[in-house]
Amino acid sequence: MKKTSITILGATGSIGQSTLDVIKRHSDRYSVYALTASTNVDVMVELAINHRPELVVMASAAAAVEVQAKLDQQLSEQDMPRVTSGSDAICAAARAPEVDTVMAAIVGAAGLLPSLAAAESGKKVLLANKESLVMAGPLFLKAIHDGGATLLPIDSEHNAIFQSLPSDYDNDLPSSGIRHLLLTASGGPFRGWSHSQLEQVTPAQAIKHPNWSMGHKISVDSATLMNKGLELIEACFLFGCQPTQVEVVVQPQSVIHSMVQYIDGSVIAQLGQPDMRTPIAYGLAWPERIEAGVESINFLDIARLDFAAADEKTFACLSLARRAFEQGGTMPAVLNAANEIAVDAFLREQVSFNHIPVLIDKVMREHEVRQLSSLDDVLAADNWARDRARQFLQEQ
Ligand code: NAD
Ligand code: MG
Repeated sequence: MKKTSITILGATGSIGQSTLDVIKRHSDRYSVYALTASTNVDVMVELAINHRPELVVMASAAAAVEVQAKLDQQLSEQDMPRVTSGSDAICAAARAPEVDTVMAAIVGAAGLLPSLAAAESGKKVLLANKESLVMAGPLFLKAIHDGGATLLPIDSEHNAIFQSLPSDYDNDLPSSGIRHLLLTASGGPFRGWSHSQLEQVTPAQAIKHPNWSMGHKISVDSATLMNKGLELIEACFLFGCQPTQVEVVVQPQSVIHSMVQYIDGSVIAQLGQPDMRTPIAYGLAWPERIEAGVESINFLDIARLDFAAADEKTFACLSLARRAFEQGGTMPAVLNAANEIAVDAFLREQVSFNHIPVLIDKVMREHEVRQLSSLDDVLAADNWARDRARQFLQEQ
């Protein structure tokens, strides 16, 4: 059997490294073509030595020089990957003809162009980078279609819904006998907290998720519920539905990863440990299944599952996301960009936790929605929202 050749965008991150863990367990099926990252030299050097890619790409040229120097000391010429740098080189690693599958796991808007490159060139795209779908949903899906690519959601909730839908699902809930989707949420580290308690929250508290181990940006998004907001938009684009057809349910144990409610009263759900290697393995091997290194659930240990409504009043980001999708066009890209600036400012202790939705709301209110006709519309809206959010930060 020919091995599946893989590019991992965002290889040094939480999803990137979980992907490499699954691949390593199946070296008979998968080979690593390219690993890409931003600036993390030491982790990239370690990954390159352990996984022997043909190509290493760093976003930063200085980081690439350092990676090359360190690899020169540790690998023979024959084992040496090519080391390149820059955002065009990252897109080229996604587009390379040698590549069958691309794991899109860059965080934030920086993932858009490389994810699109994978879509346009007809790869099997394992999409963790939800921001690219939020920013450019219709264009991204068109690129998947026109490029003859296959899109598999890796975000655990969307992967769960994908697993719970009929295999011939055709982007219309009613015609598949589906009443609605149930998008589960852990509620994050501050579930049950009041607005005044949240005022004192520190970055260290916000990046400590109770169930999942993730990168800093998505951890803060989980704490503000923006992650659920972005996921609501992601679900609407992926499964061809409206926000009113997606019910958010808090399930604090993160055992149920999401569900599909059918018209006959049946609910089909996917359950598992809160370990991203499960959806990653599903995406890699689909439609087959492979060992992911994840233990079975012991229901007797769990003993109980709890459910609650999301507190959208205290955690305003979820309703901002709903509003952005309903306004459509460029607004989801604006929501995403303003959120990235706000989260970054919070992590640098420039604004309080409660200020994150306030800043996003201010930027959204000033935005005049435009239709998304081309990638330029997305990038213009993204730039505008970043500039506007930075100005608001300077003014305060
Ligand atoms: P992370 O911060 O751990 O890793 C991000 C990766 O992106 C790193 O390899 C980094 O080098 C790279 N990167 C960052 N900026 C870049 C740039 N400008 N150019 C090129 N590369 C850049 O993030 P993560 O937690 O692995 O999340 C990655 C994506 O997957 C995010 O979109 C997140 O929302 C999504 N996701 C993550 C999880 C999870 O459990 N971590 C679950 C669901 C979805
Ligand atoms: Mg998720």
